[in-house]
Amino acid sequence: MVEGTLARHWESLEGRDARCDLCPHTCRIGEGKRGICGIRVNRNGKLMAAGYGLYPAVHLDPIEKKPLNHFLPGSRILSLGSIGCNLSCRHCQNWSLSRERPEGMEDYFIPPELLINRALDRESIGVAFTYNEPTINFEYIMDVSPELRKRGAKVVLVTNGHLRPGPWKELMEHTDGANVDVKGFSEDFYTRIVGGTLGTVLDNVKTAVDLGVHTEIAYLVIPGHNDDEEQIKGFIGWILSKLHDQVPVHFNRFHPDHKMLDVPPTPEGTLIRSKETAIEMGLKHVFIGNMGGGSFNDTYCPGCGKRIISRNMFSIRSKVSNDGRCPHCGTSVYGVWRT
Ligand code: SF4
Repeated sequence: MVEGTLARHWESLEGRDARCDLCPHTCRIGEGKRGICGIRVNRNGKLMAAGYGLYPAVHLDPIEKKPLNHFLPGSRILSLGSIGCNLSCRHCQNWSLSRERPEGMEDYFIPPELLINRALDRESIGVAFTYNEPTINFEYIMDVSPELRKRGAKVVLVTNGHLRPGPWKELMEHTDGANVDVKGFSEDFYTRIVGGTLGTVLDNVKTAVDLGVHTEIAYLVIPGHNDDEEQIKGFIGWILSKLHDQVPVHFNRFHPDHKMLDVPPTPEGTLIRSKETAIEMGLKHVFIGNMGGGSFNDTYCPGCGKRIISRNMFSIRSKVSNDGRCPHCGTSVYGVWRT
């Protein structure tokens, strides 16, 4: 039986119910029951983080796989995937983890001190919490991140950004880099397809950027659902008006998965058009993910326009200086360029 740890961000209610205040669902959870995410459980009237430290997926990944293209390019990072998710995307591409439950997962427990001691082994720059939604494992990340950073390890989150503002800000204060999914650009899409709220995610992306966390945004382009001009232009316009023109954006190719098997993979033309639209509107760093070939993932200087990072799969050649400047014209390039 997985014990977990006492959760943070919850309240006792009458009748031994508990209300979790971690994410916008604010689940009311009866004794013996669990929240929507599947890993926060009411035991004897107390809310337990039952997924605490359970990481069945552990890999040493290129940082570009997160994807983060402007965060120590060419480095590798210890990547941990846990279980559960607070969204219910019909097209989930990691459903074997996101639908898993803590019971019977004891063997995957990684003690915090073990992670802290091993994070920088094997040429890793730190730890990425990724694959499933990491923020619902709030307690573990808050337990390890300050010490990891004190030892020089970077902390990265690959997240859906669907958390309440208070806990989100706490996490961001201990995070170096984040890739946040903006899954579509309409509340209707968020309600029907992913079971969440867009406004929450946008507010949280802005908080991350305002707090100085290196932030990149992924947008999975799904034919017929979020690939229309209104959503794509609305998304880009929002970045330009609320964030800045150097936020790296990744338009990723959809492939049929989970409960969305009736939609074809994104046509290459749609992805290229999305990228061209973003550049025409003023974004400086726009990439296309999950599509081989071409130079869709190279970085060009926002000042002189010359190619400054070339990427061929995970083979990276960067000319950006350690202080983040173009070698040709000296323009500052948004990113993290030295440890
Ligand atoms: S984190 Fe889980 S239990 Fe808490 S409100 Fe969100 S879905 Fe519900």
